[in-house]
Amino acid sequence: MMPLTEFRARAHRLADWMADYLETLHARRVSPEVRPGEIRRQLPVAPPGEGEPFERSFADFERIVLPGMTHWDHPAFFAYFPGDHSPASILAEMATAALGAQCMSWNTSPAATETEQAMMEWLRQMVGLPGTFTGVLQDTASSATLVALLEARERATRFAYAREGAAAAGADRLVVYASEEAHSSVAKGVRLAGLGEGRLRRIPADDRFAMRVDLLARALEADRAAGLIPCAIVATIGTTSSTGVDDVAAIAPLAARYGAWLHVDAAYAGSAAILPELRAHFRGVEHADSFVFNPHKWLFAQFDCSAYFVRDPGHLIATCGASPEYLKWSADDQVANFRDWGIPLGRRFRALKLWWVIRDFGVEGLRRVLREHIRLAGVVRRLVEEDPDFEVLAPSPFGLVCFRSRPAGMAADDPALDGLNRDLLARVNATGKALLTHTTLKGRYAIRWSIGSLQVSEQVVRDTWALMRSLRR
Ligand code: PLP
Repeated sequence: MMPLTEFRARAHRLADWMADYLETLHARRVSPEVRPGEIRRQLPVAPPGEGEPFERSFADFERIVLPGMTHWDHPAFFAYFPGDHSPASILAEMATAALGAQCMSWNTSPAATETEQAMMEWLRQMVGLPGTFTGVLQDTASSATLVALLEARERATRFAYAREGAAAAGADRLVVYASEEAHSSVAKGVRLAGLGEGRLRRIPADDRFAMRVDLLARALEADRAAGLIPCAIVATIGTTSSTGVDDVAAIAPLAARYGAWLHVDAAYAGSAAILPELRAHFRGVEHADSFVFNPHKWLFAQFDCSAYFVRDPGHLIATCGASPEYLKWSADDQVANFRDWGIPLGRRFRALKLWWVIRDFGVEGLRRVLREHIRLAGVVRRLVEEDPDFEVLAPSPFGLVCFRSRPAGMAADDPALDGLNRDLLARVNATGKALLTHTTLKGRYAIRWSIGSLQVSEQVVRDTWALMRSLRR
């Protein structure tokens, strides 16, 4: 094992390496040029029998691993949604790693639980949720949505049992509703919750990629008439493909009328609720039973860090709670044991990075960065709109623009357009100078340009646009 004296020297050197990496990121390719299996082939097939000097491990990291990495903080990383970090977040992860604490219960590290409680309260205020909401960190939005569906299932089966007694079926009459644009984690959650994917009603979306509330109402009524039980509605604010916004204010009364759990998935866009001028997109969230957003997407506290808020933690604890004898502690009735607020028992100390990041930026500082990202998305949108050979394919309420190349003279439904855009995107990404991803919108291949890197600038945006135009056929 490395002696602590050596650890100190190496840690100093690693800090320098990290700062150099971040400072020179722009000079690297955004995404690697590797073929499947190429990295694996360079790694030894068996572990070393005896320890090796760290120098060799680090040299192999630089030689083998680094060339196979995608650089998510690169100024020209425009793919997926951002997976942001920031210097304060990196420092917090280093300190968390040094502490090495497993923060499953209050008593396994009281400060971790209480910092998390304080940070969830800060985040609640920042995104404008009412004081009736209580928050807890989860690893990802996928886990939070699964937990919400499990809570909904527990509540619905308990209600059904209370109403109909032992004759009430288990989960086999429960139905979940979400837009056809909802994230794949909803279908996965429905499956994992044992409800059966056939019990997910995928409600069509309108031209703005928001759930059709009239069709939701019709589906709820039809299911109830058929003897089924509406269990949960998942509304999305900021859909993955195009950042469509479901009308939560219109959906909430339906959830109340049919007794369905209302979960709001704002994994990406939730961070934008810190901007007063964008709060209108979040109208109605105060009526939700649960709400999730990812500070690891657009609030610079790196992966993994997902903020999950519930109106009544009692459901969460009734669903996820487990207190075996070996975990019991004398103060249990006075504290929150977050092991009972999610699926895993073990928990990382994730709140530290939130604390340091929010203090480093300040709420106003965070707002300034988000506003700049949204402004740059506006620049992208205008460049696309002003070019006769391109067209936008969706509204851009946040930091994402969906568009495609449509050379003048080609009809909107020309079947060649999908291939043309697929090729264009592949050519742009192959340069290594930028990375964008794609989706399909109403059956059309669309290029997604997502702004979120802390290092992005208008110059990088304009250079990437020039690159894209130069590679057009
Ligand atoms: N929900 C939405 C709307 C998303 O866009 C995403 C990922 O992009 C997720 C959920 C999944 O997030 P996570 O990786 O935290 O599970």
